[in-house]
Amino acid sequence: MQGLMMDAPLLISSLAEHAAKNHGDREIMSITVDNPQHRYTFKDCFSRVKQLANALDKMGLEHGDRIATMAWNDYRHLECYYGISGAGYICHTINPRLFPEQLIFIINHAEDRWILTDVMFVPLLEAIADKIVGVEGFIVMTDEAHMPETALKNVLCYETLIAKEASDYDWPELDERSASALCYTSGTTGDPKGVLYDHRSTILHAYASVVPDALNMSSQDCVLPVVPLFHVNSWGTPYSAVMVGAKIVYPGPKMGDGETLCDLMNAEEVTLALGVPTVWLALLQYTEKAGKRLESLQRTVIGGAAVTRSMIKEFRDKHDVEVRQGWGMTEMSPLGTCNSIKAGLESLSDDERLDLATKAGRGLFGVQMRIVDDDGNKLPWDGEAYGALQVRGPWVCSDYFKLEGSAGAHTDDGWFDTGDVATIDAEGYMAITDRTKDVIKSGGEWISSIELENVAMDHPAVAEAAVIGLAHPKWTERPLLVVVKAEGQDVGKEEMLAWYQGKVATWCVPNDVVYVDELPHTATGKVKKIELRRQFADYQFPN
Ligand code: AMP
Repeated sequence: MQGLMMDAPLLISSLAEHAAKNHGDREIMSITVDNPQHRYTFKDCFSRVKQLANALDKMGLEHGDRIATMAWNDYRHLECYYGISGAGYICHTINPRLFPEQLIFIINHAEDRWILTDVMFVPLLEAIADKIVGVEGFIVMTDEAHMPETALKNVLCYETLIAKEASDYDWPELDERSASALCYTSGTTGDPKGVLYDHRSTILHAYASVVPDALNMSSQDCVLPVVPLFHVNSWGTPYSAVMVGAKIVYPGPKMGDGETLCDLMNAEEVTLALGVPTVWLALLQYTEKAGKRLESLQRTVIGGAAVTRSMIKEFRDKHDVEVRQGWGMTEMSPLGTCNSIKAGLESLSDDERLDLATKAGRGLFGVQMRIVDDDGNKLPWDGEAYGALQVRGPWVCSDYFKLEGSAGAHTDDGWFDTGDVATIDAEGYMAITDRTKDVIKSGGEWISSIELENVAMDHPAVAEAAVIGLAHPKWTERPLLVVVKAEGQDVGKEEMLAWYQGKVATWCVPNDVVYVDELPHTATGKVKKIELRRQFADYQFPN
């Protein structure tokens, strides 16, 4: 027997309607290139979203066509998220930090028809214009006064375009499974792959991420997403913050600037901020130097890379801020886990809590996880056994865009192989030990490069560290530690290696340390281990 409930589609436009009606006065504050302090309300935002949707509908597009954005975190970019997807088109957010060849590849692969761009990315687009000939035109997200001189063809001004349009609009009743947004993985190996989100997956992901044990987001919050709108939907915050009616603060092009972020947090009374470890490192360095405190911030969700114990401790002890580590990936919309304290663990000591907080966290309801060995056998959740982490759920990709059936990232029984290696303990806390490709195989045992990197980065003289496995005549592979020293700090090889004593098993301690000026990074800020292994291909361990 079927239940008797309505079949109302889960649509992104319904978030817009809900927010405008219920949280119309809530504020969105942005720094943009043309205005250091732009403010307006949800009501203003969603009436401009409707103007944009009206404008797009007149451009001869069809539902499902890709319209790209290339922009920082600000209110106009948020309007694109809703105007494009809500009207039935696919919002393809492009990461402007990608190499030109990758930009060309993804724009052509996505078959983007129009690109909405910030003024500062116009030169980037001019440089590749003759290689992206399928793009019909460009909409520069500014007003007439700030329109740049450009060699691009068919260029419109965003403000002029939407000004002519009505602010009422009948959202199409789309199938909730129709595609809403597209984001490409950063592609450390091979071409970037497109992950195609749909309305249903987006709404379910937003429901799951606002719950108390995940982001714990409500209308009481003021949210500062320092994670880019151009990468994995800014961790879903354009939907989750709008769903609950939280105030939103956008730093525009000032994403990596510790001083701006600190001042913005204090002035706007930000309660929840989201970012990757590198950005928070810049923030903490600034607050330390300037003798400032994060006055209003209650918690920060950090993910995208492992979070060190020292960072969690500094947020807690100096700023009274709770760090919640999150783990996920582009293919997962992105949230898979979030680390919050579970009932029964309240009696842990401060130190034990810190240890727990260095784990990636517990699976959100909706994301099933399992770890398996090389033969696909399920491994126990005992905190010791480690294996390939596989996931399944309604906001996990079932395939890649235009690679259907050929990417080989899914198992025969329908799980997505994340490419991460992890342990899961009896309480359900998952900890990433490595990317599959980065695992160090020493004498038949696996050594976790992330664990060794975290220990190194807890040393005060270390700004950044990476550990790679290199060929060793006796042990197959041994770890080499590559360190970038913190500004004005020094640490010798012996001291660095001695730092590991008592922190990891003796046989895991790296065999050697080399110091470099900088590490190679991907467009999303992760260390490019492939490149690093290439750099040290001829390296020989000391006897
Ligand atoms: P992306 O698709 O660019 O978001 O990258 C996803 C990858 O980032 C994951 O597969 C992990 O390898 C890594 N990652 C994300 N969060 C964490 C975390 N908390 N700890 C360690 N690695 C992480």
